[in-house]
Order: sequence, then C-alpha cells, then structure tokens
Amino acid sequence: MIDIVTDRPSRARDRRGAPNVVVSDENRNRGTQQRSLIANLMLNLLAISIDLIALDAVHFANALALRLGVVMPLGLLGLSLLLWSNKRMLASAVHAAMIFAFVAAVVTIGQWANEPYASRYLMVALFLIFCATLLSGVPWRITVVMTTAATAVYVAITISGLTWPPAMRNLDLVVCSVVAGWMALRGRRRKDQQIAELTEIRRNDALLKQSLRQANEALAELSNTDPLTGAFNRRYLDELIDQDEASLVPLLGQGALMIDVDHFKLFNDHGGHAAGDVCLQQIVAAIRLNVRPSCDIVVRYGGEEFAVVLPGMDEPNLMKAAERLCRAVSDLGIPHPALGPGRVVTVSIGAAIAQPDEGLSDAILRADQSLYRAKRSGRNRVLA
Ligand code: GH3
Ligand code: MG
Ligand code: MG
Repeated sequence: MIDIVTDRPSRARDRRGAPNVVVSDENRNRGTQQRSLIANLMLNLLAISIDLIALDAVHFANALALRLGVVMPLGLLGLSLLLWSNKRMLASAVHAAMIFAFVAAVVTIGQWANEPYASRYLMVALFLIFCATLLSGVPWRITVVMTTAATAVYVAITISGLTWPPAMRNLDLVVCSVVAGWMALRGRRRKDQQIAELTEIRRNDALLKQSLRQANEALAELSNTDPLTGAFNRRYLDELIDQDEASLVPLLGQGALMIDVDHFKLFNDHGGHAAGDVCLQQIVAAIRLNVRPSCDIVVRYGGEEFAVVLPGMDEPNLMKAAERLCRAVSDLGIPHPALGPGRVVTVSIGAAIAQPDEGLSDAILRADQSLYRAKRSGRNRVLA
C-alpha cells in the first residue's frame, strides 16, 4: 500500500509504541480484592438470617456483635483502603485480617449452634479458607499468613469446642482443614506462577510485534527510496500509477512534472562522478523544499531525471510550481565545470495535468514530451 499523503511515507506512518496488551498486574489484583471483600461482606450480612434460625437469643446477640462489630468494620476498612488510598499492602493486610476474623466468627458461631446447623457452620468456614486462599487476590506472602492463621484458629476452635479443658473433638475435620489449607496454598502458588508466565509471554509477544512492525516500516521505506537522493524511486511511482489505474474514483487535477538536469554528462565528465552525486543530492533537496510536503511526491525517475506528482492542481498553479522549482535549482548557484565561467547547473521541466479521461501515467507521458521540447528550445525552462 502506498501512502500518498506525504513525501516520506515513514513520517506519515503511525509509530505507536508496543500495544498495551498486558493488563497491569496491580489493577487486576485490586479488582479481585474488591470483589472478594464485597462478596465476603454480603455473605457475612446474609448469614445473620441463618444465625437467627440456628441460635438462641443470647448467642444470636453475640453472633451479631461478632459479625457487625468485628467482621463488617474490618471488611469496610479494607474496601475503603483499596478504593481511596495508595497503601496497597495495608489494604491487603486488613483484607486478610477480615478473612481471618470471618473464619473465626463462623467457627465460633458454629460452636453455639445445634445440629444440623453446627456442622454446616464448620463446613462454611472451611469453604471460606479455601476460596479466600485461591481467589481473594491478596498478595502471596500475606495469603500464606492469612491461610495459616485462619486454619490454626479453625483447628483451635473446632478441636476445643470452646471449652476448657479442650473437648478434643472433630479430629477428622481438623485433618481435613489442614489438608484443604495446604492444597489451597499450593493451588494459589501454581495459579500465580501461570499468570506470571502468561504475562511474560504477552509482554514478549507485544515487543516482538512492535519490532516486526518497525522492521516492516523500515523495509517498506528502503524499498521505496532512492539511496543517493532520498527521493522516492521508480518502483514507488509505478505502484502509484497502478493504484491510480485501479481506483474507481478518478483523482482530479493530477499534475505531473518531469525534470531533467541540463548537460549533466558534461558536468560528470569535467567535475567527476562524486561531484555529480553531490549535485544531484542538492537538486533533490531544493526540489523538496519547494513542493508541498504534505501531498507532493518527488521521485527519482532514473539517472538525472526526476518526476514530481502534484495532486489537486490546475494548469496555472502547476506552471507556477514548475517555475518555482526551475528557479530554485538555478538559485543553488552550483557552478557547471564545463559550460564556462558564471554558468550554473540548471534543469529543464515539462509539465502536464491529467485530463478528466486520463490517468497519472498519461500526465507523466505528456510531461515527458514537454520536457523534450523544453530541451530542444534551449534548456533551463518550463514548458507545458
Ligand atoms: P541534457 O541536457 O540533454 O539532458 O544532457 P545530459 O548530459 O544531461 O544528458 P545525457 O542523457 O547525455 O547524460 C545524463 C548523464 O547523467 C549521464 C550519466 O553519467 C549521468 N548520471 C546518471 N545517473 C547518475 C548518478 O547517479 N550520478 C552521477 N554522478 N551521474 C549520473
Ligand atoms: Mg540531462
Ligand atoms: Mg536525461
């Protein structure tokens, strides 16, 4: 694809950085923690209705105090720290403390309830530890402390039955909780590792795509550019002509200039090829300075011949542009070593504008014919 908007394609192309496909770990973590806290807070509130059924009046009051006086404030504090402060570690620590308090409260309330509710409370507490370890989004180290502490308090309360000396009951549940806690930690570790690996793969992928895009852009620029002068090359012009012919909507006012350096063979013969090369570079620089950088296209047609495509032109403006270029080259004042003192390098220019039934190639052909007439009629001039 050709970018006809600019003289140099690379400048017009989008040089965006690597696509930001890697979602920030921190933001993802924050969202997970928010969801976890909100879910736990709602669960804690909903459980009050179960307490009402499962407990007598005195124990219900104690359970209410635990839920509304300890678990809720910790949850709300953790949530507000997450939402409105930058103290992420503190927020995570409070979140972990809320989970610990929630588990402790559920196991404790379970000791006050009668069957069939009592065992349900113990099961829910186990479920809480397992889910919080895997899904809370609390950083790994805090999670280890949280899960160990929650499992320990679960074991202590379940085994003792809140009596002294300890009742030493529910040993099966104790074993179950230790295994569940350990397995949840292992699962969580594995999940963290997989997420880290995936993030790394995505980051590398984005970097690879970025360097591939840059390499493609550089390659496209190289394949369209004349290495000596930096102008577009003939290949690029041919693509432009193909694109023009394939276009269903004819482009109006396609102006074409054909420019040829006068007596350049003599310049080379007397000044040398190296000086000739520098001369060509200076001529192209002067041409490029005197065309519209946003839309005119300067092409090295071959040897010491150049084509300029000027879209959206009418005849008077095209002639003005051609005269400007002709003057710009002679104003460079490059002495011509073969034409005698005071004579400078000049160019002859043929100009043509595509008629409504013509394409760009027709305009170039007619501009070339005008160029030869300009040569025959004395050089250093513009003819249409
Ligand atoms: P005219 O005014 O009729 O155009 O005469 P001319 O000498 O410019 O035309 P001719 O076609 O006889 O010679 C063109 C010269 O341009 C011959 C060639 O050595 C020179 N030339 C073509 N490409 C390059 C280049 O890349 N570097 C240099 N230094 N010279 C080149
Ligand atoms: Mg010439
Ligand atoms: Mg020539």
